[in-house]
Amino acid sequence: MKKKIWLSSPHLGGNELTYILEAIETNWVAPLGPNVDAFEQVLARYNQVQDAAVLSSGTAALHLALVILGVHKEDEVIASSLTFAATINPIIYQGAHPILVDSEPKTWNMSPEWLETAIKARIKRGKKPKAIIPVHVYGMPSKMQEIMEIANYYQIPVIEDAAEALGSRYNGRALGSIGQMGVLSFNGNKIITTSGGGALLANDQKLTAKARYLSTQARDPAPHYQHSVIGYNYRMSNITAGLGLGQMEVIDQRVVQRRKNQLFYRELFSGIPGISFQEEPDDRFFSNYWLTAITVDDRQTGGITCEMLRRGLAIENIESRPLWKPMHLQPIFRRYPFYGNGTSEQLFRKGQCLPSGSNLSSADRLRIAEAIMRIFNQRETRHTLKHQTDSESIKET
Ligand SMILES: *Cc1c(COP(=O)(O)O)cnc(C)c1O
Repeated sequence: MKKKIWLSSPHLGGNELTYILEAIETNWVAPLGPNVDAFEQVLARYNQVQDAAVLSSGTAALHLALVILGVHKEDEVIASSLTFAATINPIIYQGAHPILVDSEPKTWNMSPEWLETAIKARIKRGKKPKAIIPVHVYGMPSKMQEIMEIANYYQIPVIEDAAEALGSRYNGRALGSIGQMGVLSFNGNKIITTSGGGALLANDQKLTAKARYLSTQARDPAPHYQHSVIGYNYRMSNITAGLGLGQMEVIDQRVVQRRKNQLFYRELFSGIPGISFQEEPDDRFFSNYWLTAITVDDRQTGGITCEMLRRGLAIENIESRPLWKPMHLQPIFRRYPFYGNGTSEQLFRKGQCLPSGSNLSSADRLRIAEAIMRIFNQRETRHTLKHQTDSESIKET
């Protein structure tokens, strides 16, 4: 079996071990220490925000953002439907209700029109949503100008889920710095990784201070342990933050490498009809292209579907993955209100994420190119793939 080509795998910069060794040699082996402080400063500077609080995961950061905004039981929170479940789960942790909003076809992110429709409908029913969570899916900036105008008009705070979008910009501003708070993730498959971790960004230090307090068990200032509110154990460790410091030294290179992947696929598919890319609508949008994602229109590809593409690559031990299955189609979230016209569902039916690691070698690219060319050119291959797809098609829920 040929070596596996992953969708997106960790890519270390080289200096991570220096920071980790230093933490161990100086005995800063705790969820606090110089690496934690330095990582927060580097992140705040890079993302042009006043402050960043580093946490155990992006999910924890989203959860604390909701806690800080005072989202409680029976409250409603609007979020993009085309996302990873981690965007929605923290809403449920708070006993609140997610209100799911469809994508618009350009960026694939939250549709400003459906957002406004949802807000109006919820207010009419008697409840103003407590927060809006737009997700910058695969690194692509959402239409933030429109979203912020609507959010400001209705005076609803915005939490940007920028878990996939470190290094992306909208109108020159870092994603996660535009809403009231922003969330980053450093999970193993993200553009940089701390093996697991996240951050909360804000332009108001009171918010990040609150996040630090809540993430370290909400201890009141007293010599003994005293608590007035419920706390969490969500702080990032000083070892993990060492990984983050090493990774931030190479973030700009990682963005360049991921964007190059996208250009590689554009060239590769340029002669093949029926393939469309998630793309920047105009020059206000700058995506880190964390993952290169395409849609496959089988009416134009001679019957080749995105699932056949996935299987064809899998045979060569090359990982690709369908787009996020929208949250309003998930068994666990299906009962919550959804506002949209089927755009995210269409994207899910046709879409595929291609191997997008910043560490793809030219040999990897060649293998990917050959596999894709085979899938789209050879009748033989097409036949076998079609057969497999038919007999083992994904069980629809
Ligand atoms: C990865 C991800 C998260 C969660 O981040 P973790 O660090 O894995 O908890 C949240 N939202 C989106 C869109 C993500 O891709």
